[in-house]
Amino acid sequence: MEIKGFIQNSLLEWEGRLSCVLFLPFCNLRCRYCHAAHLLEPVELESIPRQQVLSYVRRQRDWLDGAVITGGEPTLHGEALLELIADIHAAGPPVMVETNGTRPLWVGRLVSEGLVERIAMDVKAPLSPDSYRKVTDREVNVEDLRASIRSIIGSGLSHEFRITVVPGLVGPEDVERIAPELKGAETVVLQNFQPDHCLDPALREVAPYRPEEMDAMAQVFEGVARRVTVRGRERGIAARGSGVPAG
Ligand code: SF4
Repeated sequence: MEIKGFIQNSLLEWEGRLSCVLFLPFCNLRCRYCHAAHLLEPVELESIPRQQVLSYVRRQRDWLDGAVITGGEPTLHGEALLELIADIHAAGPPVMVETNGTRPLWVGRLVSEGLVERIAMDVKAPLSPDSYRKVTDREVNVEDLRASIRSIIGSGLSHEFRITVVPGLVGPEDVERIAPELKGAETVVLQNFQPDHCLDPALREVAPYRPEEMDAMAQVFEGVARRVTVRGRERGIAARGSGVPAG
């Protein structure tokens, strides 16, 4: 398995921690708002030698609070992902994995075998095949998604579920339908989408939600998750020029 991208220090992926970020290739979905198009079929993208990454992690072990593995979809690599995690553990920091949840066998192994300290799963749409197809352009077994959600919530591990909202694609009614599926979650992150460079060119013309619209959608998760976070509120101000206070 090859590593196709590496950020030495980030405060964005793992909230409250200084982490390095490893990007793995390939994905089984094609989300219309995806910003990782270069990782979906990266035949010509140069790889970063694994030993180079591990040696950096080893050298920085006193400074790094974590290593985040993302993609693409990391669980597509199966055993090779688990081997990479073991190598990172040997080098020092705890590991967080970001997944789309479509491979519950591997999600289950990650959380039940003590391989990750934190896990983040994207929930793309209400858990119906039609809703998922509309967003991801792929057929998804929604029972697989439910199995991943259940094993993450039931694991007792630190975790978050991320929902990206996009006017005309994933909106307030969808968020209302997603909420019951996440009952008992530790953290739900509601993300405003970024029009720039997203996979579907038609979405590049869509203005993100306004701050007050984001806040209203976030309220749906009160009593569902222990914590709700909104990311990208300010994007709605910039894109629509509404003058709404950022509050
Ligand atoms: S799950 Fe969707 S957003 Fe994430 S890498 Fe795959 S296509 Fe892109």
